[in-house]
Amino acid sequence: MVYNIAIDGPAGAGKSTIAKRVAKELSFIYVDTGAMYRAMAYYLIQQHVNGSVPEEIASKCRGADISIEYRQGEQIVLLNGENVNAYLRTEEVGNMASVSSANPSVRARLLDLQRGLAAAQSVVMDGRDIGTTILPDAAVKIYLTASSETRARRRYKELIEKGEECNIEEIQKDIEERDQRDMNREISPLCQAEDAVLVDSSEMTIEEVVSTILNVFHEKTGN
Ligand code: C5P
Repeated sequence: MVYNIAIDGPAGAGKSTIAKRVAKELSFIYVDTGAMYRAMAYYLIQQHVNGSVPEEIASKCRGADISIEYRQGEQIVLLNGENVNAYLRTEEVGNMASVSSANPSVRARLLDLQRGLAAAQSVVMDGRDIGTTILPDAAVKIYLTASSETRARRRYKELIEKGEECNIEEIQKDIEERDQRDMNREISPLCQAEDAVLVDSSEMTIEEVVSTILNVFHEKTGN
């Protein structure tokens, strides 16, 4: 039996940390769809595509072939056959991803890949439109959020730990702009699915969020 868990929410809500932990607990595969959009954005940046010209994004994105592999349980994103994981977690790539992911041609290129992964095995998949568009029949849907202050603080800590220079006010501004774009775009906007469980992690520990989601899974599936 294949079970899918969809976790959607805004940037920096802790989706990937939580989704990875839930996947480990249940021995499911973790699928990070944001990384696929980031790989596409990385490609567009390399191609010097102007993010404010949708036609340019639509035509150039055809040159990006994105696929996924798992090595020692870690998701590897291949862009035209090359492992690009190391280039995906920068603010530049994240901001471009939030612009280019609003483009229908970009979304169409990644939809089959995401659905195919979930059909083949039990997954915990995180993103923006997993519960609403990609996996409308997922066994469990979670909408994971936190205040923009909390999310900026978490992202700041993550970047500082990686040795990147950054400014917390700028990060919060970027996060709020990204929320606006992700929530107000025409195609697959970020929103809570009707049957999703809302989890606000602002005042919760990682352990508390993970056990909340596992409880929802056990309740919904009886497993
Ligand atoms: O989650 P992450 O910050 O890695 O995602 C980068 C960007 O990719 C998001 O801001 C969002 O615009 C886009 N995205 C999306 N749909 C998804 C996952 C990510 O539009 N399922």
